[in-house]
Amino acid sequence: MPCEVAARFLILYGSQRGQAQSIAEEICQQAAEHGFTADISCLSNQHNYNLDSEIRPVVFMVSTTGDGDPPDTAQKFVRKIKNKSLPHHHFSHLRYALLALGDTNYANFCNGGKTIDSRLQQLGAKHFYPTGHADDGTGLEVVVDPWIEGLWDALKKTFSSMATSDQQDADLSDCTQDNFHKTASGQEKNKSDLEVDLHLLKLSEADSQKGKEIKSDSSDVETLSTVLVASLKQSVPPLSQSALSVPALPASYLEVRLEQVSTEREPVPSDKDGYHEVSISKAVQLTQDDAVKAAILLELDISEQNLAYQPGDGFDILCPNRASEVEELLLRLDLQTRKNCAVQVNLLKNSSKKGIAAVNGSLQFILTWCLEIRSAPKKAFVRALVDFTQNGSEKRRLLELCSKEGSADYNSFVRDANVCLLDLLRAFPSCLPPLSLLFEHLPKLQPRAYSAASSSLQHPGKVNLVFNVVEFPARPEHPARKGLCTGWLAGHVSSILRPLGTVPASDGLILAVHVRPRPSSTFHLPADPSVPVVMVGPGTGVAPFIGFLQQREKEREANREATFGEMWLFFGCRHKDKDFLFREELERFAHNGTLSHLIVCFSRDEPDAAGTVNRPTYVQHNLRLHAKNVASILLKDKGSLYVCGDAKNMAKDVNDTLLEIIGNELQIDKLDAMKTVAGLREEKRYLQDIWS
Ligand code: FAD
Repeated sequence: MPCEVAARFLILYGSQRGQAQSIAEEICQQAAEHGFTADISCLSNQHNYNLDSEIRPVVFMVSTTGDGDPPDTAQKFVRKIKNKSLPHHHFSHLRYALLALGDTNYANFCNGGKTIDSRLQQLGAKHFYPTGHADDGTGLEVVVDPWIEGLWDALKKTFSSMATSDQQDADLSDCTQDNFHKTASGQEKNKSDLEVDLHLLKLSEADSQKGKEIKSDSSDVETLSTVLVASLKQSVPPLSQSALSVPALPASYLEVRLEQVSTEREPVPSDKDGYHEVSISKAVQLTQDDAVKAAILLELDISEQNLAYQPGDGFDILCPNRASEVEELLLRLDLQTRKNCAVQVNLLKNSSKKGIAAVNGSLQFILTWCLEIRSAPKKAFVRALVDFTQNGSEKRRLLELCSKEGSADYNSFVRDANVCLLDLLRAFPSCLPPLSLLFEHLPKLQPRAYSAASSSLQHPGKVNLVFNVVEFPARPEHPARKGLCTGWLAGHVSSILRPLGTVPASDGLILAVHVRPRPSSTFHLPADPSVPVVMVGPGTGVAPFIGFLQQREKEREANREATFGEMWLFFGCRHKDKDFLFREELERFAHNGTLSHLIVCFSRDEPDAAGTVNRPTYVQHNLRLHAKNVASILLKDKGSLYVCGDAKNMAKDVNDTLLEIIGNELQIDKLDAMKTVAGLREEKRYLQDIWS
């Protein structure tokens, strides 16, 4: 039907961790309310779409992974469109919009989306709506929500211009109109939603004594607002008195049933996703007890599973949610007595969703191993929770938190405070969501990645991983807690944990974890060992470099005649005597010549007796002190720079210092220095393995 074709568009997503997919699905769901029909496909399912002859507008949702790469699911598509034999007008028929997802804490922000965007442009495709670049570092929704809001108008304009430019379909615009009429009910539904919200607003005003006081006398407003402080549970004027624009209620699409048959208690997920159960042969505390952060080294025995890795690769570790949090969640959901029931999840019959990931196991198992219950609820989830909340003031506050007007409150009391569902349920006790809502809105529990801190040449059949135990102090919104994986691992190995330098007692206790190799495509030593390298790895960022150095030490022993390039390591920590990780091993590398230069700094140690002024505090200060050597390695000797560790501060500071070093050395301005650094990245001679 021409009419249907006219209002039909295609959504294509390339997702690494499911975020691009869930935004794509949200757009697909909202499409009907705006008078459109959307088809949706992952970019990897190339049999589902054909852009070579696509006449519908296409909406792309693309995330970024690794060192600015498109997600794995989009790689094939990118290779296809990058084919050099395609003519420059290949996609001149294509009208598209693109939302790129990224994180400004990492280099090459949104590069996955940008790569696809620029190639489509080169091939003649045209934007019907400007590209959005959403930043996970500051909250995706800051860009995603308004971008989606504007998309509908852009689509309407595109369809109407398509209709008027085609004489054959003179009636098309009427049809499109029809289509919009068809969904008038959908829009009315929105309107009535809003009415419900306004009604709630009144309700909550009636409910709240404070609200009454605030309204009764304007001079009271000032007095009260200086006393009242906004919190997760409570707002202050003007928000508390404002009309609210709230997101449309996301349509539910799942039916979750609990089968009374009690299931066996599953220990951990099966290994069908490539996980292997490996034993932990050693756990060593690398830091002193009074260090600010504890760092732990795990030695994993991977000999039986025959897992291979190179220095620079990593491993994903599966971790469960805390048993106490799962129990409390079950209690809050009134499902404690049914935790051993088997879960049956089905798509609702009228749902536009195409499929759901299979879930298998008891309710307790799924809450423990499959859903990221610690994730901060997105605004759509908060909106959905409103409808399962009894108390008027609680409803009002939840509406505020997901509203446009309440964005600042959402950012400070939910997103930045890392509030999770359980924190919300504690703060809003009359909220009792059904299980289906959790399955619809909670992301899949993700494994955590750790870089190999060893070389299999030096530790055959073993791999070492090292991590800091992440600590989150108590806040008004939630109690103190440890990082999900690192806190769990620390507890898991506590009975075998030994201080550095002591021999582990062989008490026969065998602990295990589930791991999956996470090979890196680029973060490896140069193929030519004569190439010099500069490594920057403060704190646990030193992990992959321990692997590099162990490997190089063995290669040097095996081949004494060969020429090996210089190896520089810039390391930093807080205190020389408390958290200088791998100190003895690094000093050995420096002593036997594996490491040409070990350059360290300690950010919290008092200056020594001589009171060195301008003593380097952080790795970037030392890089600056050795600017000539660093520049010469990179610019003259064609060497490589590796940076590993904290993405939020360190990697940015190191990048800025690098620009400065290159600018000074070549006597060029910042823009040209940036181009030179971009060239180094392109040549894979400036590599990062960073995390936040
Ligand atoms: P999580 O519970 O996931 O918390 C981590 C983040 O969530 C915090 O940084 C914070 O932003 C946020 N957060 C969660 N809850 C709160 C809260 N209540 N308050 C404030 N913020 C909160 N780490 C290492 O230690 N060693 C490595 O070798 C290593 N290698 C890595 C390699 C790669 C390729 C990648 C991607 C990451 C690597 N990481 C490494 C990081 C590691 O994967 C984990 O992210 C880290 O250990 C924290 O995991 P967690 O589950 O304990 O913390």
